[in-house]
Amino acid sequence: MADEEIKSKIQSIRERIAAAAARSGRPLSEIRLMAVTKTVEEGRIRQALEAGIDLCGENYIQESRLKVESIGHPPQWHMIGHLQTNKAKYAIRLFDMVESVDRLELAVELDRRAKAAGRVLPILIEVNSGGELTKSGVPPEETIDLIRKITPLENLAIMGLMTMPPWFDNPEDARPFFAALRTLRDRIAAEGIDRVAMKELSMGMTDDYEVAIEEGSTIVRIGRGIFGERNYK
Ligand SMILES: *Cc1c(COP(=O)(O)O)cnc(C)c1O
Repeated sequence: MADEEIKSKIQSIRERIAAAAARSGRPLSEIRLMAVTKTVEEGRIRQALEAGIDLCGENYIQESRLKVESIGHPPQWHMIGHLQTNKAKYAIRLFDMVESVDRLELAVELDRRAKAAGRVLPILIEVNSGGELTKSGVPPEETIDLIRKITPLENLAIMGLMTMPPWFDNPEDARPFFAALRTLRDRIAAEGIDRVAMKELSMGMTDDYEVAIEEGSTIVRIGRGIFGERNYK
């Protein structure tokens, strides 16, 4: 895809984000656009950065190591893929936030590694909102319990929730899952748990980000909409 194409796709996504925010009476400043860069080579990521992208998402440690070390920070980099516990040390080195924390064992290891690195790692709790067996994430009904167990870990900062709902042809069908995540976020916030900020709702991808914004998303994660279809080698 040519440079201009990436730039104009980002521009039109930004316009649609602004329109969705306006429709739902939300300030545009609380919605961030993440470019999901899995399988995307460095040159095209740099084009997106030139077009104003300041947040990228990666799914795999091995793939992201080369890119993050070469491109550096900024942009901010968020880990959005399933993270094996034995890769936690790399995640601490590479990422500004891990959005895919879905079990205590992983949180304990991230906390240990963050402490050794002298930093506090912001995390999101990934919720399996559709209850699909093939997807990672904690079941909605176990989310508060997991959060209570993670809060004593002082080198992690819980900032909110992330989800990837089931895939539908019609993005309207994803709406109830987004709304349910927002409701869960509000319920957790109402518990007033010490050190838990329920600020972020990371939800919405290429096909459904406008619906997600209408339901309260603060981070939309867009891959194909910016870079075109992924080419898995
Ligand atoms: C790949 C991926 C995305 C981006 O999906 P697109 O449909 O390309 O926008 C978003 N979130 C997660 C967790 C992903 O794995």
